[in-house]
Amino acid sequence: MEKILVAGANGTTGKKVISILKQSKKYKPVAMVRKEEQVSQFQNEGVETILANLEKDVSQTTNGIDKVIFAAGSGGKKVKEVDQEGAKKLIDAAKEKGVKKFVMLSSMGADNPEKADEIQEYLKAKHNADEYLKQIGIKYSIVRPGSLNNEDGKGKIELDNKLNKRGEIPRMDVAETLVGALDDTIGKNKTFEILGGEVYIKAALEKI
Ligand code: NAP
Repeated sequence: MEKILVAGANGTTGKKVISILKQSKKYKPVAMVRKEEQVSQFQNEGVETILANLEKDVSQTTNGIDKVIFAAGSGGKKVKEVDQEGAKKLIDAAKEKGVKKFVMLSSMGADNPEKADEIQEYLKAKHNADEYLKQIGIKYSIVRPGSLNNEDGKGKIELDNKLNKRGEIPRMDVAETLVGALDDTIGKNKTFEILGGEVYIKAALEKI
C-alpha cells in the first residue's frame, strides 16, 4: 500500500480525505497535524499520525512517504507563512525524500490573482505555491475548486483546465477528487478546475 501524507488532516476537507484513504485498498493515510491533542484523536481511529507545523521545520514529515495531499490552509490568516511558504517547504521535503506525486488543493482564481478583490493576497500565495510545485520536478496534480460547501457529496463534478465560471462544490467531492488524483496515470502534471457537476469523478479525472 502506498503511504499518503495528508497535510491539513484535521481540516474539514482533510478529515474527509483521511476517511476515504482509510477505506482504500491502495493507500494508507498518514495524518499530519499541528496540535498534540489531534494526534490521539487520529491514533484512536488507527491512523498513523505525524505532528508538524507548516510554519516550522517539516523536513522529516516525508520520511517513508509515497505521495502527498496538501489540504492545509491558514483560512486567510497567515497566507504567506502557511499557504505559500508552508506549502513550499513541504514540496521541498517531498522532493528531498523522492515522493512520487504531490496533489495540491489549490483554488479557482489562483491562476490570475490580480483579478481578485478581497482574497487577492490568499490567491497570490496559492499561485506562488502552485508555480513552485510545477518547477520542482515531482509529478503533481493541482486541483482548483470553486467555493467549498458542506453539502453531501454527489460523486459527480464538472472538471476542465479552465471552467470560466464560478460556483460551489461539496468538500466531500473535492476530497474524492484529490484521492483520485493520487493515481500516477491521472492528471499527471496537470492543473485543473472543479465545480459540482454531472460527471462521475473517476470519469472526469480520466479525461484530463
Ligand atoms: P480548514 O477546515 O480550515 O482546514 C485547514 C487545515 O489546515 C486545518 O486542519 C488546520 O489545522 C491546518 N493548518 C493551518 N495552519 C497550519 C499549520 N501552520 N501547520 C499545519 N497545519 C495547518 O480548510 P478547508 O475548508 O478544509 O479548506 C481546505 C483548503 O481548501 C483551504 O485552506 C483553501 O486553501 C482551499 N480552498 C478553499 C475554498 C473555500 O471556499 N473555503 C475554496 C477553494 C480552495 P487545525 O485543524 O489545527 O486548525
